[in-house]
Amino acid sequence: MRNPEIFTAEKLFNMLSHLSEGATTCRYDMETCARMVPIINEINELKVKQNAIILAHSYVAPEIIYAVSDFRGDSYGLSKNAMEVECDTIIFCAVKFMGETAKILNPSKEVLIPGIDSGCSLADAITGEKIRALKKQYPEYVFMCYINTTAEVKAECDICVTSSNVYNIVEKYPSDKIVFVPDYLMGQNVQAEMKRRGVNKEIVLYKGTCYVHEQYDPEVIEFMRSQHQGLEVVAHPECSPGVAMMSDYVGSTGQMMDYIKESNSENILLLTECGLSARLQQEMPEKNFIGSCNMCKYMKSNTLEDILRVLKTPQDSDRVLLTDELVDKSLTCIKRMFEYAEK
Ligand code: 13P
Ligand code: SF4
Repeated sequence: MRNPEIFTAEKLFNMLSHLSEGATTCRYDMETCARMVPIINEINELKVKQNAIILAHSYVAPEIIYAVSDFRGDSYGLSKNAMEVECDTIIFCAVKFMGETAKILNPSKEVLIPGIDSGCSLADAITGEKIRALKKQYPEYVFMCYINTTAEVKAECDICVTSSNVYNIVEKYPSDKIVFVPDYLMGQNVQAEMKRRGVNKEIVLYKGTCYVHEQYDPEVIEFMRSQHQGLEVVAHPECSPGVAMMSDYVGSTGQMMDYIKESNSENILLLTECGLSARLQQEMPEKNFIGSCNMCKYMKSNTLEDILRVLKTPQDSDRVLLTDELVDKSLTCIKRMFEYAEK
């Protein structure tokens, strides 16, 4: 059996007190850390006793990432962790579609989601019924969905993608007619990237957006560049093509972290959810992260209190419950992603 990690208020304070308030939902002063520590220690003890593993997306709060999670990362990496992990229970601190993906990939495990508002404006933008209607309209097309979709949508699609592999999968997939759902802005970025790569494919788009990333404005980039010499701009592909075009690098949360780690630039403008800015401040204190990040209310609805609650008294509303038929149908779509991502 693993030994649970024991935290003290001082240890948590030393880890998190330097994070800027703009990138987090609270200030990590000694009082806040002292309030969190008993909950953290109880979670870490119960997690070991119950053979549970906690997966955390980089956008959730730093006290979850650094004090209780076993794996942290982007949606692609966490899907792989969920598939490979050996435990009885997976607690997925992120949003519901990520928990569903974990259940589809590892159906014998109990998957619990502590986020009480774990929706996603992209996943909520399209339904399985809508895909069935689109299939009638576009019978000759391959249906490709972003991983930010429900299991029901994945069950109707041929292949899914994440922000880390979307460009390469669209390029490699053996079809030149693709309906891409639901992210309209990511779809436009894909169209621009295919043009840049000289790949000629017809890509039909749907009208969903991420309410966090659609807010970024190319004019902010221009202004920030005029204020900070040598500023490096890094953005997520859910941002608009105007933003993507003006950025030095566009990639998934994991890819952005890797890029910034390698970058020589001191000043970084990171255009994504605030959780990633907080992670980078923590892990790369030598760099200067400037301004603009937006918060995702869905990711931020994961709390220590709810992680402890689902460990102690899980309810059906915390569980990912999918029928065997839905697991089977949606698994093909996700498995194809792994196959093409690793080709
Ligand atoms: P990643 O695939 O980069 O983790 O993104 C997931 C997401 O929800 C971004 O808004
Ligand atoms: Fe969904 Fe956007 Fe939140 Fe990511 S940041 S989970 S795409 S609403």
